[in-house]
Amino acid sequence: MVGSGPAGASAALLLATYGVRVRLVTKYGRLSDTPRAHITNQRTMEVLRDIGVEDQLMREATPWELMSNTTYCTSLAGEELGRVPSWGTDPGRHADYLQASPCSMVDAPQTITEPILVGEAQRRGAQIRFDTEYLSHTQDADGVTARLRDRLTGVEYDVRSQYLIGADGARSKVAEDLDLPFEGPGAVGGALGIIFEADLSRFVAHRPSVLYWMLQPGAEREGVGLGVLRMIKPWHEWMLMWGYDVAAGPPQFTDAFVRELAVKLVGTDDFEMKVTSTSPWTVNHHYATSLARGRVFCVGDAVHRHPPTNGLGSNTSIQDSYNLCWKLAHVLRGTAAQALLDSFDAERAPVARQIVERANQSIADTGRIMQALDLTDTSDVDLLDQRLAARKAPGPEGDKIRQALREAIAFKSYEFNAHGVEHNHRYASTAVVPDGTVMPAFARDPELYAQPTTWPGAKLPHAWVTRRGVKVSTLDLGGRGEFSVLTGIGGKPWVDAARALAAGIGITLRPVSIGPGEEFEDPYGTWAQVNEIEDGGVLLVRPDLYVAFRSVTAAPSDQAARELLGQALRAVLGHG
Ligand SMILES: Cc1cc2nc3c(=O)[nH]c(=O)nc-3n(C[C@H](O)[C@H](O)[C@H](O)COP(=O)(O)OP(=O)(O)OC[C@H]3O[C@@H](n4cnc5c(N)ncnc54)[C@H](O)[C@@H]3O)c2cc1C
Repeated sequence: MVGSGPAGASAALLLATYGVRVRLVTKYGRLSDTPRAHITNQRTMEVLRDIGVEDQLMREATPWELMSNTTYCTSLAGEELGRVPSWGTDPGRHADYLQASPCSMVDAPQTITEPILVGEAQRRGAQIRFDTEYLSHTQDADGVTARLRDRLTGVEYDVRSQYLIGADGARSKVAEDLDLPFEGPGAVGGALGIIFEADLSRFVAHRPSVLYWMLQPGAEREGVGLGVLRMIKPWHEWMLMWGYDVAAGPPQFTDAFVRELAVKLVGTDDFEMKVTSTSPWTVNHHYATSLARGRVFCVGDAVHRHPPTNGLGSNTSIQDSYNLCWKLAHVLRGTAAQALLDSFDAERAPVARQIVERANQSIADTGRIMQALDLTDTSDVDLLDQRLAARKAPGPEGDKIRQALREAIAFKSYEFNAHGVEHNHRYASTAVVPDGTVMPAFARDPELYAQPTTWPGAKLPHAWVTRRGVKVSTLDLGGRGEFSVLTGIGGKPWVDAARALAAGIGITLRPVSIGPGEEFEDPYGTWAQVNEIEDGGVLLVRPDLYVAFRSVTAAPSDQAARELLGQALRAVLGHG
């Protein structure tokens, strides 16, 4: 594994948990020294729950209830243009989120996430090598030889492994060496990141949020659409984001320049600040259309490079690793054929494209706020002031602006409440066995609303069932690196088939029966509402909690159950 960001750290933890011998090398003598990714969505929390670190992250992260109130304003001390109740905190949306997952969203900067993932990976047996740089690799039919440099001594050496994962971020040398095909215009803008400590409680504690967006002269140029103050720790640590022209290069971060920007966005100079870090970064629009070659795989920003809008970066990176690692573990154990690994590319390359497009679209959508004020840019400060004043005027012109502004700000739900983007992936690959039915159409906007289904290729729906009266999520019935088989009353042939197949193939195939008098019961009836199978039907669930195969109806006989489940399992494992 190359890289200890969210992608590499989670892959190391997953593989170590699955019993794979893993070595992670990372360039610097430390983990991330800046907070960067922070929005941690429910799907990622489900992954962390499956590997047993959800609670650790919850303890250290900023909780869900402080993530609401994304605010559009002229400055923290200035005028408010509007707010977006975010990340599912709007009462009108909260139930959607609670129904979709047993997990909360949290705000966890990389400075919190990485030590948890890497520390736990190490405890579970992963070898971590700091100050070690990947230089190049060659691969043959049996393995990969990576050339590494110890950055403390300068000594170069080779490491031989069966597989190599490039989790080396947006400037991935592994992806470059693989010559992976990329699409998209590349660097489309520049942004400055300034991290500072300042007690800004008096401006924000009454409207807790992780993001405050500022309409200020020049704010819409480059960058992420407007000026931003992002909470890192409530309400004392902040990241300021402001655009710069990539062609011209970043400005000098002089003390005066940094202070001036901060004062502009806070809206007063009546506060003290201590700058802890400054860095320019590029707003990218770039994704790989193929994520692997032979024995080498790329995950995370190595293959999808996009702005932080929608908070999808580290989430998608961790989910790439979740998709890949169970497959690698099964191939390394000899229970799956190498062909299973091809499904990683087939399943995750479309996600890479989707999230890069989504994150960039969200920057473009911020332009609606300018349009609502009838502004093409903010260069004319008097005109900006006039338009802001017109918004407060009585009469039809003011009404029109107010209405347009409300709509433009509400439209930002595609950035801050894009629940469907986070949950609605439908995988199509050899690791999914179609059941001949057409994918259920989305009843609501697929970007905004998660729609559970057991259609093969979709994530197993969450429902609260009970075991001896205690609530358990259906997501807790599978995972942990193993397959599971979910059925109900009348599903005994599937349970017997699962037991026989597990013994025959040498894998764990956890049979789970849900119904009155079974090990798990469905007293709320929610599982029956979402499972889309008859009581005697079955779902074969992959270790990453995606449905691999289903039979809506009961098996006609014990033998048919064995044959159908066996065929499906062999197909998924690449033996078909
Ligand atoms: C300001 C900002 C805010 C963001 N907010 C969010 C957010 O809210 N939510 C979200 O999901 N995403 C967000 N992102 C994006 C997120 O930071 C990235 O998507 C995420 O870090 C990608 O993880 P990664 O592991 O793929 O890469 P990285 O975190 O970049 O990690 C790459 C790793 O590879 C190592 N490395 C690189 N080259 C080599 C080499 N040659 N040899 C050895 N090691 C090497 C690096 O040292 C590092 O450890 C944000 C990004 C920025 C800049």
